[in-house]
Amino acid sequence: MKTLIIGEIINNNLSSGTLEILGKAKSLDLDVQVVTVGSDENPSIGLDLCKQTYLKRQNNSLNLSKAATKISEIIKNEEITLILGSSTYMCRDLISFLSVDLNSSPVSNVIDFDVASGNVSTVNSINGGESLYKTKINSDQALLLIRPKAFDPVEVNFNDDFETIDRGMVDKENLELIETLASKLNAAIGGTRAIVDAGWMPYSQQVGQTGKTVKPDVYIACGISGATQHQVGMKDSKFVIAINKDEEAPIFQLADLGIVGDTLSVIPKLNDNI
Ligand SMILES: Cc1cc2nc3c(=O)[nH]c(=O)nc-3n(C[C@H](O)[C@H](O)[C@H](O)COP(=O)(O)OP(=O)(O)OC[C@H]3O[C@@H](n4cnc5c(N)ncnc54)[C@H](O)[C@@H]3O)c2cc1C
Repeated sequence: MKTLIIGEIINNNLSSGTLEILGKAKSLDLDVQVVTVGSDENPSIGLDLCKQTYLKRQNNSLNLSKAATKISEIIKNEEITLILGSSTYMCRDLISFLSVDLNSSPVSNVIDFDVASGNVSTVNSINGGESLYKTKINSDQALLLIRPKAFDPVEVNFNDDFETIDRGMVDKENLELIETLASKLNAAIGGTRAIVDAGWMPYSQQVGQTGKTVKPDVYIACGISGATQHQVGMKDSKFVIAINKDEEAPIFQLADLGIVGDTLSVIPKLNDNI
């Protein structure tokens, strides 16, 4: 079956979610192509496992509507019937656009899928993994959003150089600042679902409704909005310090100490003075 994987690039590499989907697609012997998303067109990159790869580079901005239009063209031109993306914010948005273009409903929370006689069926997880349900897809194109860690990742080799996608404030430098702070304070590092979905941290470090509940003596929220689903996992911390550039961020409602500022300038100062 002709398959397109919507891939994400993190740190000059395909994200773990993309590699997991590639692993599953290859195990089913699907005819795979990969597109990664950004604004400037680059020449195709070679990925040894794929028939065709496309690379679009971005300069710190994503125009998802334009990207979706481009992906729709690829799907139509290449007569692709199975479209796979990881359950990240970007892929969820892109697949929503594609579902309108292709007049096909997306299927989310997929933890397994199979292709038999040209038909796609899926196994889906709901209620935080407590219940499973199955779907059989009848539309011309199947649009699947795959949960991270559903499959084993595959190793790939690139035949050419390619560019990275920068994800705004969340870059390696920022995580290194937090690692330095954590080591000075002898603290553990956790993350929001946004960070886990982006592949910057394993799911085992996610704090919140669908992650872990933590109750440390001090919880430092660095650039965290404080969504209800995140608060559920940390609200019983003894002392909450929040650093956020948006003074209206909900995290400040439960913070004992709030710092309105840029994490990239506040955290280095903390590191220098602890
Ligand atoms: C069913 C369900 C379950 C969920 N489970 C979880 C869960 O278990 N855990 C979880 O965390 N989320 C969960 N979510 C997602 C949750 O709703 C939020 O989307 C998520 O917590 C947002 O993460 P975030 O604060 O990192 O990102 P964003 O919402 O993108 O917020 C980023 C914040 O960083 C601030 N910021 C940006 N740049 C800077 C800077 N340079 N300096 C300072 N501040 C900056 C912004 O002002 C903003 O407040 C769940 C959602 C659903 C629907």
